[in-house]
Amino acid sequence: MKIQVNPDKCPQNHRCPSIDVCPRGAITQKDIHSLPEIDSGKCILCGKCMSFCPKGAFEMV
Ligand code: SF4
Repeated sequence: MKIQVNPDKCPQNHRCPSIDVCPRGAITQKDIHSLPEIDSGKCILCGKCMSFCPKGAFEMV
């Protein structure tokens, strides 16, 4: 299982707010027009980013 960001749901036009709620610092974003990326080596699948993203763009797969 891992968390990934759905590019069809993320508008990629702002800084990802879920970066600040991740307790592991697993989410990075190159710039505001990039899709956030999740380091699966750091992610503990807590789901905080999934419930925080207003677009519901984080998905567990
Ligand atoms: S599931 Fe938790 S640890 Fe993983 S990226 Fe989201 S907020 Fe961070």
